[in-house]
Amino acid sequence: MFWRPKRDEATPGDSPAVEGEESPATAPSPPPEPPQPKPDALWGPGIGPPPADVRPALDAGLARTRGTFVTTLRGFLGADGETAWDEVEETLIAGDVGATLAMEIVERARRRHEPDGSEAAVRAELAALLVEREPDWRPRPSVSGGPAVVLVVGVNGTGKTTTIGKLANRYAAEGRSVLLAAADTFRAAAIDQLRIWAERAGVPVVAHAPNADPGAVVYDALDAAVARGSDIVIADTAGRLHTKVNLMDELAKIRRIVGKRLPGAVPETLFVIDATTGQNGLAQAKAFHEAVGLTGVVLTKLDSTAKGGIVFAIEHELGVPVRFVGVGEKATDLVPFDPDAFVAALFA
Ligand code: GDP
Repeated sequence: MFWRPKRDEATPGDSPAVEGEESPATAPSPPPEPPQPKPDALWGPGIGPPPADVRPALDAGLARTRGTFVTTLRGFLGADGETAWDEVEETLIAGDVGATLAMEIVERARRRHEPDGSEAAVRAELAALLVEREPDWRPRPSVSGGPAVVLVVGVNGTGKTTTIGKLANRYAAEGRSVLLAAADTFRAAAIDQLRIWAERAGVPVVAHAPNADPGAVVYDALDAAVARGSDIVIADTAGRLHTKVNLMDELAKIRRIVGKRLPGAVPETLFVIDATTGQNGLAQAKAFHEAVGLTGVVLTKLDSTAKGGIVFAIEHELGVPVRFVGVGEKATDLVPFDPDAFVAALFA
């Protein structure tokens, strides 16, 4: 039966323990039904509840950036002939757009001779840095009958666990069956914290003991998800410094394990970056991208910084879309990133 785990280095037991359900997996239970392929339409655009109005949350999350960065920028972007371009460049750098990029933006904005003025020119140049993406994106299964798999990676303290909790809450509220994998086995606290978020969102979690093999956790979680026909598996991963090659190797191993359990599956690999860490965070993101190939970014703590310009630097430097921005600590403080809405809210 193909959904049973094979014994290998990634499978410490036959029966993955899934927490947070009424009948624990340790109790005797009939063998699970083979999973039925899910119609693609389930994940297609227009299916599911209408998108919530994210504008108030985005406005609140951008309040500091608007109050400092954009207000200062506007001060220097006077009417034609009065624009203080050097100061505009400095303001962009101070807003975490990055030095090289700030210079390029100013040069291109000046050359536009924008009839609507220099603010419109800078705004258009900023918007042009954001990569194209499909509207209403959501993680999709990449193999028929399997769950969508999301690996959440990043440095400790950036908000990985909180983001997973918010994502679980979001997809569960949309009626999708979510399963969490506590694959950051290096910190007992991370496992506990994930359990708390799982409980809040009302979703099951697969966890092993601290220091267990993270690959085994992911393998078991995928097993459990296939057996249950879950829609989406979200895995926490260890978040130690990117300079340690073995840690990057571990992430690469987790990705290989996903491919082993779900042949052909390509996980979404979301990098969580703390907006308050600015260019340092961007350097971390680049290192992770080179090592494991990121498919998306979640920018957390946008509410805690006045330097929202980092969004433009991330997308431009990585060529990877920001999927969500975190605008607070509550389960609902996660806003899907829409470039037009973001620029509009920034310059509102
Ligand atoms: P991890 O170590 O990467 O898993 O980080 P945690 O999820 O434990 O988050 C670290 C801290 O950041 C916690 O105090 C969170 O409440 C806080 N945090 C996470 N996301 C956000 C956010 O979007 N806004 C704010 N203000 N705080 C956040």
